[in-house]
Amino acid sequence: MKKVVKFGGSSLASAEQFLKVGSIIKADESRVYVVPSAPGKRFSEDTKVTDMLLRAYESASEGKDIAEEIKAIKARYDEIITGLGLEGFSLDKDFEEITKILKENPQKDYAASRGEFLNGKIMAEYLGIDFIDAAEVIFFNAEGNLNDYKTYKTLAARLEESQRAVIPGFYGMGKDGNVKTFSRGGSDVTGSIVAKAARADVYENWTDVSGFLVADPRIVPNPKAIKYITYRELRELSYMGASVLHEDAIFPVRHCGIPINIRNTNAPEDAGTWIVESTCQKQDYVVTGIAGKKDFCTIFITKAMMNAEIGFGRKVLQAFEENNISFEHMPSGIDTMTIVVHADEFIDKEQRVVSAIHRLAEPDSIEIESGLALVAVVGRGMKSASGTAGKLFTALAAKGINIKMIDQGSSELNIIIGVKNSDFETAIKAIYDTFIVEKKK
Ligand code: ASP
Repeated sequence: MKKVVKFGGSSLASAEQFLKVGSIIKADESRVYVVPSAPGKRFSEDTKVTDMLLRAYESASEGKDIAEEIKAIKARYDEIITGLGLEGFSLDKDFEEITKILKENPQKDYAASRGEFLNGKIMAEYLGIDFIDAAEVIFFNAEGNLNDYKTYKTLAARLEESQRAVIPGFYGMGKDGNVKTFSRGGSDVTGSIVAKAARADVYENWTDVSGFLVADPRIVPNPKAIKYITYRELRELSYMGASVLHEDAIFPVRHCGIPINIRNTNAPEDAGTWIVESTCQKQDYVVTGIAGKKDFCTIFITKAMMNAEIGFGRKVLQAFEENNISFEHMPSGIDTMTIVVHADEFIDKEQRVVSAIHRLAEPDSIEIESGLALVAVVGRGMKSASGTAGKLFTALAAKGINIKMIDQGSSELNIIIGVKNSDFETAIKAIYDTFIVEKKK
């Protein structure tokens, strides 16, 4: 059994958190490869080290003195080093070098990546295992995407040589020979890459919540954690804004069938959530998760005999394409069609889009409306359970919520409903109560 364990910024924000991480790693011998993030927030108003580094980079590129900023960043690490009692270990030399490089040739990705690099060094010292610089084993191509072939070949060979090691998250080496990072939260992606290269049995992703929650805790108080979720369900929920894991983190492990186990550093006894390709595990609820987003716009188009006009849909969509707007949903009727788009992409261009639809598709009328919220009810169990939609609509009707749009994915994995922005929270609570709280076996 071989596990790759990734720890998020809040799990490594202080010496106290490091100690918890240490006991988690020591509790299971199969936790052999460790991928740390940079120190995150210790309390809600705190600043993540990555953000401190990015600010220092900005000051350096404006030619300002960065001594004070570097001092504050160094203090974060020194507090951890002292708290862990790592005598004789210091990052002084590293900070001298980072300061020099930032002054002479400030580069954003290099600056941002140092948070993980330095934390990785502390982690390796603390655990007494090897340190592998991610810039030597993770490579990007000229387009800025992962260079799969080179990365897996190099990384797998390097891991063969180290039975236990720390590989800092978030960065690798760009095609131009400079350090390059993934997008924010990208240590999750590193963990997944390491798990694939190591052919691990499990990728454990340790964070500060006990797994993926059925609904947003800011809307539903104390929602249940999901025990098992498939990659496809997760994709549907993350698309709707539910986030625990970087979106790109599922791809490397998904193709080799390595499950991801989301765990809580502050409650290691909790089983967390298993993200898997497929599962026969009995589900407690028909619905796996509920997520949603506010602020969509609808463009409602009518044209007599639209259904018989070949190419009508294409012409309408072309109007969006010409304006560089991606559409989210497209429910249609016999002589009507609605396009749902994100308000922030659409509002500034609305009149251009309307005139383009008139020019290209010659409809009878176009009406646009804003203030739509979408709620996705996701569950692999829905295709074998009858009455899910009925229950859902009854729950919303009971709260007096008018459903403005319904879209059931053909996979029968999700039902998406559109409601007024102002009904959003009530709708999510009502759905949660119906499917989770009042569930009858
Ligand atoms: N430290 C980086 C960030 O704050 C990457 C990560 O934590 O995954 O985005």
